[in-house]
Amino acid sequence: MRDETKAILADLIAFPTVSADSNLALIDYAADRLRQCGASVSIFHDETGQKANLFATIGPDVDGGIVLSGHTDVVPADLTGWSGDPFVMRQDGDRLYGRGACDMKGFIAAALAMAPHFARAPCRRPIHFAFTYDEETGCLGGRQLVGALKELPFRPAVAIVGEPTSMRVIEGHKGCYEYTTTFTGRDGHGSEPDRGVNAIEYAARYISRLLAIGDELRRTPPLSSRFTPPWTTVQVGRIDGGVARNVIASHCAVEWEMRPVSRRDADHVKSSLAAYCADELLPAMRRIAPEADITTTVIGEVDGLVPMDDNEARDLVATLTGSNSTDLVAFGTEAGLFQHLGMSVVVCGPGDIAQAHKPDEYVTLDQLAACLTLLEKLDAKTRDNSSAA
Ligand SMILES: [Zn+2]
Repeated sequence: MRDETKAILADLIAFPTVSADSNLALIDYAADRLRQCGASVSIFHDETGQKANLFATIGPDVDGGIVLSGHTDVVPADLTGWSGDPFVMRQDGDRLYGRGACDMKGFIAAALAMAPHFARAPCRRPIHFAFTYDEETGCLGGRQLVGALKELPFRPAVAIVGEPTSMRVIEGHKGCYEYTTTFTGRDGHGSEPDRGVNAIEYAARYISRLLAIGDELRRTPPLSSRFTPPWTTVQVGRIDGGVARNVIASHCAVEWEMRPVSRRDADHVKSSLAAYCADELLPAMRRIAPEADITTTVIGEVDGLVPMDDNEARDLVATLTGSNSTDLVAFGTEAGLFQHLGMSVVVCGPGDIAQAHKPDEYVTLDQLAACLTLLEKLDAKTRDNSSAA
């Protein structure tokens, strides 16, 4: 099993599935392996036809299944800092190097290696495989997949998202919502500011309102929040506008983000800002320049995973790994998408997030072995008629 996982990981790393590029070859590879062991496999393409999600089922088409979830895309790997080709797996001692080794092809390799075992005899509880595209660029694939899952005649109950947590059991993370808000005014000579519409000035008012909303959120964190910091944060990371000191700026773009602890907070921030633009900023701008505008582009809206008292996925994985503590992490995953579908969700996978997105990314054989042990115990559990799982 361990050699098999290693061989599959080498194959997966050799598909250069950088988010900007196609992941179809990898999806075909996974689909072949899953079909060979009798899984029913559905593939959902994006509108370009160059990327796809895979959803597969081993076992009966009934409610209550367990989803093993992983994204197939990886962040880019330019050669600086790498000791070898990022898309050729290289072993050095206990470490397997390659782009995506821990984030998160290691988990996908372990899941694929286990597929024939899940399939060797009928199981009561279906095991599903959900492999997505474009997680690293805003969970676009996950969003599409969740839309497709809503149409299924059955509803999985549990999702295990195998992002690298060093096999720790993670039950929550904040969301990450990213935007660029662009202000279009009217240019003019700096000596006559009232004849133009200064996009920078309106952007400044917008930022002030955003920060005021941030202060209000800081004063009202959810009572039970275990996040650090416990409230929803907002942040402006970059602004870009204007051409010169003595010219009224006709353009300004504000790049900002928030890390919501709940979707309610996220909706509050968005609707407050939208109302402020519609009721105050835009009318003031258009009194002078009817062509003035404010547009917000969504760069990514990755939902958080809200820690829940009642969480079967967490309890199941904690039992199987023998872990007696659960934790929160600072990075985003696709987990919140599954949670919004009404599933219980946990994040637990091989490898250390500290190695993700870096040159010489690796996963250790130890971590892969721990992941396989978890999946083997899961396999045993789904066949154990005496227990609830
Ligand atoms: Zn990842």
